[in-house]
Amino acid sequence: MVAVADKPQAAPLETLAARGAHLRATIAAQNLDAFLVSKPPNARYLTGFNGDDSYVLVTAVGMWLLTDARFTLQAQRETRGVTVVQNDPRVRGNIAQQVKDLAIRRLGFEAQHLVVSLYDDLHEDLPAVELVATRGLVEAQRAAKDPAELVTLRHAIAISDQAFNEVSAAIRPGMTERQVAVMIEARMIELGAEGPAFPTIVAAGPNGAMAHAVASDRPIRLGEPIVIDMGARYGGYHSDMTRTLVLGEADDRFREIYDQVLRAHLAAEAGAKAGLSGKTIDALARDSIAAAGHGDHFGHGTGHGIGLEVHEPPSVSLRSDDTPLTAGNVISIEPGIYLPDWGGVRIEDLILLGPDGAEVLTQATKQGFYNT
Ligand code: ZN
Ligand code: ZN
Repeated sequence: MVAVADKPQAAPLETLAARGAHLRATIAAQNLDAFLVSKPPNARYLTGFNGDDSYVLVTAVGMWLLTDARFTLQAQRETRGVTVVQNDPRVRGNIAQQVKDLAIRRLGFEAQHLVVSLYDDLHEDLPAVELVATRGLVEAQRAAKDPAELVTLRHAIAISDQAFNEVSAAIRPGMTERQVAVMIEARMIELGAEGPAFPTIVAAGPNGAMAHAVASDRPIRLGEPIVIDMGARYGGYHSDMTRTLVLGEADDRFREIYDQVLRAHLAAEAGAKAGLSGKTIDALARDSIAAAGHGDHFGHGTGHGIGLEVHEPPSVSLRSDDTPLTAGNVISIEPGIYLPDWGGVRIEDLILLGPDGAEVLTQATKQGFYNT
């Protein structure tokens, strides 16, 4: 288990250089002279820069970060191997000028992120430049985590594991869902998290039947299922885990549903490996739940990639395509059963795919029953 006290550092220069080299090979294969990165997690992945309103231009020979005066110092401190240009990209014409200065002729951009107004401006200001829409180039690369990312991700996971183990043992009947969520988030921050990865879900009783419930002022009662979905953000990376528990006596219904979800969860973890498609890994959990007669009560995908974003490629669901997942993919395994008027059970870990199987990264206890 990773010790929360060992704080990993930002990605070293060699790592960033390797990421840049990988992207350059991709853009060369698409006959692009340059690539304009507008999406902040992609900019962070390539440069180390953790701000927004900024753009990265990548060419065969260099990388330029265009930012404004608010971020210049931060960019100089955080980035490695990048030319920081204080050239406010929010001012019309500044990105275009940089493209002209670099004599770029075919410029790829992130079609899933660049706003239409900026596209229109670039199109008008750069009549000699061909703008080429691309999808998910950096995201595809980010899906396979490199060693520096894995160290940081493991740390984010260790924080949420420890916070869950401590706080779950301190939950008492009568506490509200929101109180528990605040305890979890406070503990993660004390343990070094930058913040929660997403608003913590604590959903007790019928609220748990909604897979994306928010914590409410409802007091938690003895004997009802409590779904806790939580994660920590550390170094820009996110953890994500779900546990379901009961205070006091778990009744037969809870034990039965919990067992079914746990069986599906463990089947998917045992069978997941690089080379299988997201759809196939989804089926490992889904078939198990369907065999128990609850196919209609599992209405979401089995998992998702995670890293600089909470939800990122690859997807692990019924709707995933047949592309094989690769070694280095970190995905969640989070089957659930949701029964209206009763509640839900979901169990979620993050796993790291390898050629022969998966390493389960999440270490928080899966014991679902707490006697108070
Ligand atoms: Zn989750
Ligand atoms: Zn998740």
